[in-house]
Amino acid sequence: MPQPRRFLPLACAHPRRTVILCFLAAFAISLVLAGRQYYQLLQRELQEREHNLHLQALAIEAVVSNGKSQLQFMRNIAERLLIEAHIQPAMRRNEAIAAAMRNSQQPLWELPVPKSDAPVRAIGDAQLANIPGLSREPQQLIEDLHLAHAMSQVLPAQFRGESNLSRILFLTTSGIVIAYPAVRDEQLEPILRKFTSSLLMHLNRANAEDLDIAFYPPPGSNLGSMPHVLLSTPVYLNAVMRGALIYDVPQTKLQNYLYQTTASDEQHALIDDEGSLVASSEQMFKSLPGNWLRSLPASSIRLSIPMLFQRDHGTLKLDDGYLQFRELQSIDLMLTNYISAADLRAAVHAQIDILFLGVWALLGLLMALTLYIVDRLFKGQLRLNRQLREMGLVDGLTQLANRRRLQSDFGGLLQRLRENQPLALWMLDIDRFKHINDNWGHSAGDEVIKHLATLCRALVRPQDLVVRYGGEEFCVLLPDTSLAQATQMAEQLRAASVQSVCVPEAGTLLAGAPSLEIRLTVSIGVAELRVDGCQGLEDLVATADRRLYAAKKAGRNQVVSSD
Ligand code: GH3
Ligand code: MG
Ligand code: MG
Repeated sequence: MPQPRRFLPLACAHPRRTVILCFLAAFAISLVLAGRQYYQLLQRELQEREHNLHLQALAIEAVVSNGKSQLQFMRNIAERLLIEAHIQPAMRRNEAIAAAMRNSQQPLWELPVPKSDAPVRAIGDAQLANIPGLSREPQQLIEDLHLAHAMSQVLPAQFRGESNLSRILFLTTSGIVIAYPAVRDEQLEPILRKFTSSLLMHLNRANAEDLDIAFYPPPGSNLGSMPHVLLSTPVYLNAVMRGALIYDVPQTKLQNYLYQTTASDEQHALIDDEGSLVASSEQMFKSLPGNWLRSLPASSIRLSIPMLFQRDHGTLKLDDGYLQFRELQSIDLMLTNYISAADLRAAVHAQIDILFLGVWALLGLLMALTLYIVDRLFKGQLRLNRQLREMGLVDGLTQLANRRRLQSDFGGLLQRLRENQPLALWMLDIDRFKHINDNWGHSAGDEVIKHLATLCRALVRPQDLVVRYGGEEFCVLLPDTSLAQATQMAEQLRAASVQSVCVPEAGTLLAGAPSLEIRLTVSIGVAELRVDGCQGLEDLVATADRRLYAAKKAGRNQVVSSD
């Protein structure tokens, strides 16, 4: 890169190129700025959408935590009731319970309760033996039935009219099920199986006093075709698990919420930690077998559900869109948003101000117009400069080269000339020109000078340079020509000038001119570079001039090529 001190003269030496470059640079900078602005808009749009996703996640969590706190409240009640049933033997003498226990051989039996309470049902001893994890001892069963009896009253009292709940379940390890609202008889066994195969059953005893809430993933759920968001908590007596409370968050509630709060160009999905779809922003839930990631465009194949859960939240650029995700804090669910790159661009374009675009386009137009005008001015200026330069190198009367041109051409010629190539020069002067001026007039004299110029040009070769050296003196530079060749050519010119006649235009002749035509002769001095001590143009001209003077002295109309 040129240093500033060198750059300025360089810029001044090529003003047109510099101006064009500056304009192009200014335009490029404005392009870069516009690109940056566009990128920032895109990022802001993505951030806004991530923020919306965050708000949505918070709202879903609000529903979940409501369920959780209710569940914890119920658990406290259940554990207190269980302790009471355990320590007050009097309570065990309940006829209804004794009658129900006598029926426990039947595949399905129940404890009669008032109609307004939730039904208390249980599976038979044989069915129970088929479900690993469940067991039934008489004393335990009596305690559980006491608890169930109370819960069948408590659950409807607590959850009647609760809109955030689709069902509350109380299950015991002795095979009793209370569902509010009730489930069909044939669902009791599958529900118990699901319960025993869940994480709840594997809780560490050390955690017994904690309120562990687990989420049941719904695959293969027998609770219907919809996925279920289940919150659950174990119920303990003396660090032994005796049952569980399960809170079923209504899927339609989540589905409706996502549908109503999602922008039309986005696809939101609530998925569990195995990638199963729980709710989506579609108007109707469409169940999706297998991993939800597979429903995304092909480029998301390298993604995995554990990776998303590990990263907690963020935005990922896929080949043809963006995936935003945020894990819910209180439950193992993840809320995601997919937006295609085209939709995001459309959203950004909608934000770009028409005024800003107009101003930017106008600016570009003005710059282009200014550049066009400046360029034209420069071109005109350059043409003028060339003309001026040419005018400074050309003789106005004869259109021959002048002395300045001789000097400038000589340098270039010397460089092109090889070591052994000769270069010759004539000095030529019209004989007794004063006489012509005096008798035919000055204008006629000019005509004679022009006549000789034409004669010279006709006789020399294209590579020779004919120069009007001053007045009626000419100088001819003959590249690649020896002294002998140059002398021979000079002789031809001298002879031609003797034979030629100049006929000036009638108007140029002086009144009383001796004739209508003018005859002329010339004297020529010839010299060659690097011969007789001629080292440069000055020497060459001086030598030829000396020989011209000798020709004049010797009687004019002759060629002299030696001293
Ligand atoms: P010589 O043979 O010794 O050269 O005699 P001369 O008369 O030609 O003498 P000299 O070369 O000294 O005279 C040059 C004259 O040419 C002097 C000047 O008045 C005249 N002259 C110079 N330039 C021009 C011109 O452009 N046009 C005309 N018509 N005459 C010019
Ligand atoms: Mg002269
Ligand atoms: Mg003369």
